[in-house]
Amino acid sequence: MSRIVVLTGAGISAESGIPTFRGKGGLWEKFRPEELATPEAFMRDPRLVWRWYDERRQMIKRARPSEAHRILARIEQEAEHFVLITQNVDGLHQEAGSRNIIELHGNIWRVRCLSCGQRYYLEETPLREIPPRCHFCGGLLRPDVVWFGEMLDPDVLERAFYESERADVFIVVGTSAVVYPAAHLPVVAKQHGAFLIEVNPEDTPLSEIADVIIREKAGTGMKRVYEILKERGDI
Ligand code: NAD
Ligand code: ZN
Repeated sequence: MSRIVVLTGAGISAESGIPTFRGKGGLWEKFRPEELATPEAFMRDPRLVWRWYDERRQMIKRARPSEAHRILARIEQEAEHFVLITQNVDGLHQEAGSRNIIELHGNIWRVRCLSCGQRYYLEETPLREIPPRCHFCGGLLRPDVVWFGEMLDPDVLERAFYESERADVFIVVGTSAVVYPAAHLPVVAKQHGAFLIEVNPEDTPLSEIADVIIREKAGTGMKRVYEILKERGDI
């Protein structure tokens, strides 16, 4: 039995109908990220940023976990040690049944108060009031996600590196592997001896160091990964 660590990105949710940022048909073809997903944009126009998030939340609420999300939940059930590190903020892994999750970039269903600092889940969709106000103090709320130019939570990041360094198998699914520090996790895992599997229909900077490259979409690719884990005796 092995320590299995997985890193997922927007590509795994593409099959649930949620657009990626960088691939074809990505969100950023319509919206420029630097206009919306930054602290500066939010300070300039919280209403505009919240309207965009409200739309994304509605889209995500309609989405269902994909085959790939479900296979990951199954691998977790069969594995001795399993950690899922995700860059996604949509909560679809939880919905599919995954439990041991490290959310690097936060969660779109959570909010954080700029006045009193409270964090809590606010699942109302569509939002009745934009921008929404804090239940505790009436202050301005922001989505509890990591924006461009912001630091990741150091505790979350430390856990992600801790797990990556100790992985026997590291699986990367649907990430362009260009957003740091997330993109560094598979490299660290490989440096510490992990067997590295990549699932992505396109070439990425990780493809060079991967032990197995599965050039498929997430659903088909994860079926293959499941077989590989069985064959290797990891699960
Ligand atoms: P990205 O947009 O940079 O890259 C997406 C990758 O997915 C590409 O490499 C693409 O080739 C691949 N891909 C496209 N369709 C696929 C499919 N069907 N199966 C497998 N792979 C597929 O995404 P990223 O690397 O996650 O980038 C980072 C940022 O985007 C993160 O910060 C994340 O928070 C944010 N994001 C999250 C969501 C979400 O929560 N669902 C959606 C969009 C963006
Ligand atoms: Zn508050």
